[in-house]
Amino acid sequence: MLKGIATSSGIAIGKVYKLEQPKIVLSEAKADVETNLKKFDDALNKTISDIEAIKERASKRLAEEELAIFDAHLMMAQDPEFKDQIIAMIKEGTNADQAAKSVSDSLVSMFESMDDPYFKERAADIKDVSFRLLCNLLGLTIPDLSSIDEEVIIVAEEMTPSDTAQLDKKYALGFVTEIGGKTSHAAIMAVALGLPAVVGCTGIMTSCKNGDMLILDAKEGTVIVNPSEAELKEYQQKRAEFLEEKQALQVLLDKPSITTDGHQVELVANIGSPKDMDNVISNGAEGIGLYRTEFLYMESTDDFPSEEDQFEAYKVVLERAQGKRVVVRTLDIGGDKKLPYFEFDPEMNPFLGYRAIRLCLDRKDIFKVQVRALLRASVYGKLAIMFPMIATIDEFKNAKQFVLDTKEELLKEGVKVSDEIEIGMMVEIPASAVLADEFAKYADFFSIGTNDLIQYSMAADRMSEKVAYLYQPLNPAILRLVKMTIEGAHSQGKWCGMCGEMGGDPMAAPVLLGLGLDEFSMSASRILPTRKIITSLNKKEMEDLANKAIKCHTESEVSALVKEVLNK
Ligand code: PEP
Ligand code: MG
Repeated sequence: MLKGIATSSGIAIGKVYKLEQPKIVLSEAKADVETNLKKFDDALNKTISDIEAIKERASKRLAEEELAIFDAHLMMAQDPEFKDQIIAMIKEGTNADQAAKSVSDSLVSMFESMDDPYFKERAADIKDVSFRLLCNLLGLTIPDLSSIDEEVIIVAEEMTPSDTAQLDKKYALGFVTEIGGKTSHAAIMAVALGLPAVVGCTGIMTSCKNGDMLILDAKEGTVIVNPSEAELKEYQQKRAEFLEEKQALQVLLDKPSITTDGHQVELVANIGSPKDMDNVISNGAEGIGLYRTEFLYMESTDDFPSEEDQFEAYKVVLERAQGKRVVVRTLDIGGDKKLPYFEFDPEMNPFLGYRAIRLCLDRKDIFKVQVRALLRASVYGKLAIMFPMIATIDEFKNAKQFVLDTKEELLKEGVKVSDEIEIGMMVEIPASAVLADEFAKYADFFSIGTNDLIQYSMAADRMSEKVAYLYQPLNPAILRLVKMTIEGAHSQGKWCGMCGEMGGDPMAAPVLLGLGLDEFSMSASRILPTRKIITSLNKKEMEDLANKAIKCHTESEVSALVKEVLNK
């Protein structure tokens, strides 16, 4: 049994699909010319039909211009000169894979040495095509997430947010990664998709191969490769119980989130795309507490999404929320979230670097498109705009002023904009938590981003499994920052929410309730389990618990207090 970091809930049982680029090791033993010629012919034909199949699948998602890349690859694979050069080498006694490698290497260096940028770029196409050809010659498979058409558990070194975005829930039963922490974006996406996942599972890549059976327990963070009959039975039973419990929560679907002594809080959802709205509605969320708009930017492959594309996405979300509040976070790119069409200058510490509101205030041209789209969509529902990574009051004032100026501009153009848009900020940098009472004079609301707040307070990279033990939402130091933020908001009559993973953590709910948190935002799949907890608690008693918790010395002391409450 391997141990990783638990991210979500649920159990997956299925076959392994390894997301791993194959390693090319050229053949050494000599085969005869005829065999090599036949091998080459088959591999080249397969390469051509592979590219055609990828193009066909991609045509469902990509526009015509974006498909042109596949045409370039096809042309390359069908180029008679390329083929003839390889055949000539084979006839001289070189093995097919060595001949293919040698011909493509010399083509690549020829194109790379050209001055014309168009031809320089062709080098990348040649590398791509010859890599596929070599894999076919050597019998290696190149993984492609979008081509999965059977139920599998994905095993990868790392899942980038765009890998996760490609997953089709119909076939992906769950995933395990070698690296990553509980609040890495891959883990967050897994929860959002309702997929069981274990991250930071050291050794998983070397412990299994394609087609092996795997059991994944996302709650315990455990993985079993090729389980015994008895283990299989045990986990099938556990999975059935999990699904039964999930079903039993349905009675809470339309119920308010009220404590036993009548205190009401809001349980709202985190989303990454308009597609998530089905899940939001079916899980009884009371609104959207965090719309991570950067996924809209990451899904686009060649350019920033246009004002029109963004307007459509925001409009759909606002309309489907049916008058419930939708908190949209402006672009939070950088850190582990990159864009294929935007070059970030290399930085030693991208998580501390040029990202989120810092980038938007510097690149107002990029920011403007999003703000215009948001303001135009505001008339379709109850919009709240939130800025990520605010560190200073000046940043907040500048960002807010930019929104107000853009609103004026739109009104002058005769475009309608709602008058009731709230403008708030994420509190995810310790400096803004400490100064929350002053920030609250300017912001309409706060939402505490605990994923980053904890990362920055503990100085522990959220992507690193080695320091994952420092992700301690219940550490009294974190609780004190949370308390300061909530009290800061309340001192100015403002509301305070939380949209980091801690907002949906069952162990944190009693303390957060006691600290006076108004809004808990989480992945939709966590709403009903959290409602069950909230409706079983007494607010006054939780205030006592919170008072004790912030005086504790360690996270484990706080955990022990919470467990007492939850097991009562
Ligand atoms: C956070 O930092 O807690 C947060 C909600 O934002 P993200 O996870 O997208 O950085
Ligand atoms: Mg954040």
